[in-house]
Parts: sequence; C-alpha cells; structure tokens
Amino acid sequence: MSTHSSSDRFYTEYDSRLVEEAVLLRSAGHPEENQFRRARNRIYEIADSEECEKRFHGFHADWFHRFNLGHPITAALEEQVSLVRDTRCCCVIFTPSAQDEGADLHEARDSCPADHEAKRMILLKLKPNTLLDTSNLQTFLRHEFMHIADILDPQFGYEPLLPKSEFGPAYESLVRERYRVLWDARIDGRLFRRGWVTEGIREKRLAEFTATFSIRDREAEEKFRQFFDSESQTHAGLMAFVLNAGTKTDRSLGGKPQARPCPLCRFPSFSIIEGAVGLSTEARDEIAVDFPEWRPEQGLCCQCADLYRARRLSRSAEATLPRI
Ligand SMILES: [Zn+2]
Ligand SMILES: [Zn+2]
Repeated sequence: MSTHSSSDRFYTEYDSRLVEEAVLLRSAGHPEENQFRRARNRIYEIADSEECEKRFHGFHADWFHRFNLGHPITAALEEQVSLVRDTRCCCVIFTPSAQDEGADLHEARDSCPADHEAKRMILLKLKPNTLLDTSNLQTFLRHEFMHIADILDPQFGYEPLLPKSEFGPAYESLVRERYRVLWDARIDGRLFRRGWVTEGIREKRLAEFTATFSIRDREAEEKFRQFFDSESQTHAGLMAFVLNAGTKTDRSLGGKPQARPCPLCRFPSFSIIEGAVGLSTEARDEIAVDFPEWRPEQGLCCQCADLYRARRLSRSAEATLPRI
C-alpha cells in the first residue's frame, strides 16, 4: 500500500502486515468496530484464496486511511524538508521488537541502466502498537527522521563505517555506543530548541553523557553543551570526541575519584570491576577469545562486562555504526 506526498514525486509505502495489525488493533473498541468486523468477515466467504487475499489487502488499506493511521508519519516526513526533497520514498516496515524500531537510509540502484543515480529511500521499522501510541509517536518520529536529515546533510558529513582499529570488538562496540550518545544529544538538542520535545530531555541526555564518557560535574556539563546546545557539529567532530574524550583524565585532581582505562576497551571508566567479580565462566571464556592476554585480576569496565555477559557480541560483525 502506498501514499503520495504533496510533492507527488515522493511516496510512502506500508508493508501489508503492519497495515493489517495496526488496523486490527485500532478497530478494537472503536465506535465503528461492528461495521468493520462485519465487512471483514464477508471477505472470508470468498472461495478463491488469491482473490480473498487481494480483498483483505484492499480492505485493510481502506481502513488504514479511514483511521488516519499514516498521518503522523506523513506529517513528520513533511516537516523536515530534506527528507521529501532528497529521497524517493519512505518504506514503513513491520517489526515485532521495540529494539529494532527506527529509521535508516538505504540506497537502491536500478539494475539497469547502470548510469542511473542511486535511489535513496528511508526505511522505517515500527511495531503496530507504536503506530497507535499517538502521545509518543510524534516525538519518536521527529527524533528518528532527524538522524536521516543529518545523514542527508553534506555539512554533517556522515560516514557509516567506523575508523579502523586494532583494539577488537569490545572497543568497536563502545565506539558505536559513545557515538550514539553524542548523536542523540545533538539531535535532541535541536528538537528541544524547536520546541519539539518535552522538558526533561536535557537532563536525561546529560545523565547518559556523563555515564558514558566518565566525565563529571562541571566539566561534563561544559562538554555536553558542545553537542546539545550547538547546531554546527559534524560527524568528524563527534567521532573525534568519541575517540579522544577522557583519555587525559589520569591527572591528579586533589583526591577526586579518577577514571581508569579499562584493559579491554581502553576507554576510561569510573566503574572498573576489580578482579572481574561476578563475571561468569562463560563470559570470561568469551573475553579470552577476543583478548587471550587478559587476566581477570586486571578487571574490566561495566560496559565491557555487560557486553560479554549478554554474549551478544558478534566477533565477525561488520564494524558499521548503529542504525539509530
Ligand atoms: Zn537516536
Ligand atoms: Zn571496557
């Protein structure tokens, strides 16, 4: 099912599973629920299965429009000019998991003719429930689409690949996480200045920043402002901060707690787990694969401990930045 924007060139495509599930959820308890059910039940009476399926698609698409379920997406796309101007379409896809939700930019090339420009498309993954959650949906979409606007902005200079590193997957994972924290701060800062996000977002992002970069107090607030309060950050600027922040925190500051570099990821941390206490044998074995030289006595930071506890780390995973 697809809908065209006012520009006519740009369109939004919805996958049929998302449309069906969103419509079913929306119809429950709706004043028109009975009418919806009766009309839907009649489609089951069609004997020809192909025809039946076609009719279901059409039926769900009609009710999707009737319930105005695509409106928040259209509105959020159109309020950021570059999205509609610099991409061809937005594909809205079903996902069952909240972790997987979000927007990403894809480039598709026509198989022929070869000299055609790549077609840029926005891929938006959503749970059907999210589409119905009107109080949070707008903020969520604005945030996600701001990531896309950054990727499209030549001045931001986005690069999807991480810089090469010999420090291994724990390091790369933390680089991705640190980058996400900075990028999200930059994005929510801009949303905040436009009045597009609720109060409290600054405090939330600052707390995340402080925890991630092991910087404290006034210094943290000062550094954080470079990202949250500034319009002019670039991808290279974010990455430089990601790679260098906190690496000079060894200086002595009158008995204040100091961040120490984690032996695995090498990033400074206030929360080194001495002796790797509480880490299971499985997690220790996982670490030994990546870091044969490491000994539990050396300890590790909380983030690394979480990574290896979860064992979600794929050693062969391509070092790309996260879909945010
Ligand atoms: Zn984000
Ligand atoms: Zn670490």
